[in-house]
Amino acid sequence: MEKVLDFFKDFIYFEILDKWGGPVLAASFLLLFLAETYRRLRKLKAERWKRIKRNIGIAFTAVMALRLALIPALIYLSVLAENSNFGLLNWLSLPVWLEFLCGFLLLDYGNYLWHLLNHQVNFLWRFHNIHHIDLDLDVTTAVRFHFGEIFLSVFFRGFIILLIGPAYWLILIYEVVFETATLFHHSNWRIPFKFEKVISNIIVTPRMHGVHHSIVHRETNSNYSIIFNIWDRLHHSLRLNIHQDEINIGVPSYREPEEQNIKNLLLMPFNKPRPWILPNGSVPEREEKGNKDVLMP
Ligand SMILES: [Zn+2]
Repeated sequence: MEKVLDFFKDFIYFEILDKWGGPVLAASFLLLFLAETYRRLRKLKAERWKRIKRNIGIAFTAVMALRLALIPALIYLSVLAENSNFGLLNWLSLPVWLEFLCGFLLLDYGNYLWHLLNHQVNFLWRFHNIHHIDLDLDVTTAVRFHFGEIFLSVFFRGFIILLIGPAYWLILIYEVVFETATLFHHSNWRIPFKFEKVISNIIVTPRMHGVHHSIVHRETNSNYSIIFNIWDRLHHSLRLNIHQDEINIGVPSYREPEEQNIKNLLLMPFNKPRPWILPNGSVPEREEKGNKDVLMP
């Protein structure tokens, strides 16, 4: 029994995440939900409450996979790397503040690459697709992921953990900030434009991520960053110059709200993704104009 309790303590219950992270995430979700209800950025196209219920249903399976499989696996690998003195940060033995800074940035870069792969590798897109076909974008889209995508991320993110060798506390702190940032940039909250313009020099914001959920393929294939957008700047995948009123959220071949029920969404990876065309056969396009690096209201 004692062994079971020790295992539970070490690999299932994580104080940083469960005692501190949980309430932070729940409060962030509620505040962003209120903010996007009273200061809406983009007009809604689908029936709001029906969407929200479906997204929460999908989120339940995703959160389970994240909390019970992904996080324990990453922590296990970080302990394994530390015990075998493997991974960049274990080789360097930096002062704690520098270890934190480097580890945090490298974990964020790893997640940029994982997101990029989800768009570029057909097999991964089958799972990531269900996040993108949402007809509106708000804080509930931030938790609408197929649990299969979370399971698959164990391999890539686990590999990144072995390469970087971050301490387990660093992974947990990063995870709380990562999830909070994900809730924030998916939200449909109209932040004062001047303020968003300033913060979008460093972090991913709702207007920036709105472009990533556009129905125009070139726009979806941009803005992959999660917390810091320096990764999009370095890889030239940044695209900010689209007015939010002109963005159509979603994927062109999945426009039917009724089709997006929980059962269909969960089964979607087993069906071949549809080509990037609208039901009338046309391809959504937009003329390229202005400087890609300049945020539009
Ligand atoms: Zn994406």
